Amino acid sequence: AVSLEGVSKSYDGRRVLADLSLEVAAGEFLAIVGPSGSGKTTVMRIIGGFEAPDAGTVRIAGEDVTELPAERRSVNTVFQSYALFPHMSVIENVAYGPRMRGLSRRDRRKKAAEFLDLVRLSDFAERRPHELSGGMQQRVALARALANEPTVLLLDEPLGALDRKLRDEMQRELRRVQAELKATFIYVTHDQDEAFGMADRLAVMREGRFEQIGPPAEIYDRPVNGWVSLFVGSAN
Ligand code: ATP
Repeated sequence: AVSLEGVSKSYDGRRVLADLSLEVAAGEFLAIVGPSGSGKTTVMRIIGGFEAPDAGTVRIAGEDVTELPAERRSVNTVFQSYALFPHMSVIENVAYGPRMRGLSRRDRRKKAAEFLDLVRLSDFAERRPHELSGGMQQRVALARALANEPTVLLLDEPLGALDRKLRDEMQRELRRVQAELKATFIYVTHDQDEAFGMADRLAVMREGRFEQIGPPAEIYDRPVNGWVSLFVGSAN
């Protein structure tokens, strides 16, 4: 569903992504892990079409994302900033999105309510985002992204602001929704338990390269080098 080929990116002459290639299958859950500054967010921004690579191509369902107009990109993103519309209620925020436009107001609200329920925020439907905690706002952003039923969803630390209990619960829900939507998830997290527990495959990033890509068990049992072994071993 998603394919990167020879993707490179520099900022101010400094290489942040170096010749990355990656194939993510339709319906796959791929987690990207790596130290701070290794380039995870930059890859996500490039896959989402928010930023152009200096070299290489990014294809989603065979189409070059950099050549697609914004409204035709089937990608939907939740980033840590979870930019919600401050003047809209929580449910209006969830009901707002490209896939929702074709529906009647009633159907939009109904669908938005379902996804709000999923993130356990039904009681806050009529509130404004600023009345909610950071973790709650993050869940609203997640509900909004899921409600659009994207074929590819890019999630950058979607559960980062949540406490342990809710995080565990949301991890299960996210996997369930992903399977239900048959969506491709590309997921950045600092939480290695989360990555190992949720992903079909992991891509371990180091200084703008993928050091190893494979199923969690393979990375854990057969790290390609000492660096991966240390990085994975330093989990928890
Ligand atoms: P973290 O885990 O801390 O979020 P990351 O792996 O997501 O880090 P990126 O945010 O992709 O890393 O950043 C990779 C490198 O690129 C960093 O050194 C960062 O400072 C640099 N960088 C990212 N965006 C820009 C930009 N717009 N201009 C200049 N440098 C940038």
